[in-house]
Amino acid sequence: MKHLKVLLLLCIVISCKNDKDTLSDKINYLKFTLHNSPRDTSKPILILNLNQTLDAESLNEISKEVSNFFDIKTSTQQQKVDFTKISTRIQKDTLQYAADDFLKYLNIDLASKNQLCNVALINIDLYPHNAWNFCYGKADFDTHCAVVSNFRLKTNDELINTIIHEICHTLGLEHCPVTNCIMHAAKDLKETQLRGNTLCGLCQKKLNYVLGKNLMEK
Ligand SMILES: [Zn+2]
Ligand SMILES: [Zn+2]
Repeated sequence: MKHLKVLLLLCIVISCKNDKDTLSDKINYLKFTLHNSPRDTSKPILILNLNQTLDAESLNEISKEVSNFFDIKTSTQQQKVDFTKISTRIQKDTLQYAADDFLKYLNIDLASKNQLCNVALINIDLYPHNAWNFCYGKADFDTHCAVVSNFRLKTNDELINTIIHEICHTLGLEHCPVTNCIMHAAKDLKETQLRGNTLCGLCQKKLNYVLGKNLMEK
């Protein structure tokens, strides 16, 4: 086993000389493939429109954009939420809801059944945990579910950017240090706008792996 690892590392070092990926990118990608498996892309991405957060036109536009980005079918569903089940707090005069409670309450662990992943849209303010002021969304790696709030987002473009970011989390991608990569962690709207609408080379490669796509395609 030890020899195999040394051989693998040697192969990585040698192949590094032949393309533009750095050694740390290669190791990062290798770790990703060890912890993630290709998913069943015949299943759709489910977008849950909680308490009619979006009108039909916006929901349709967002659903199409998400489908185009991942090249995967999307489906949409309306769902009512009982807010009394969600923990709240007041932060700077704003009522906020616990993002984790949403994920638990919705119990949308459907990904292993009929969906590739689920993303729930809501129009109230969210917080990820007590130390943070707010969050635009939160994803759960294990259940493949995410929740995204449009409370602080001004445009559909910002909402689409955040939805794609959270869906990538549900597919196993983590935050990326490249500032214009869609997987860069955004602290505010300015950073959300700055990070652009595409993945950096390494994150794209990870996404291609998890979606079972030919690496030469994108
Ligand atoms: Zn994130
Ligand atoms: Zn990236």
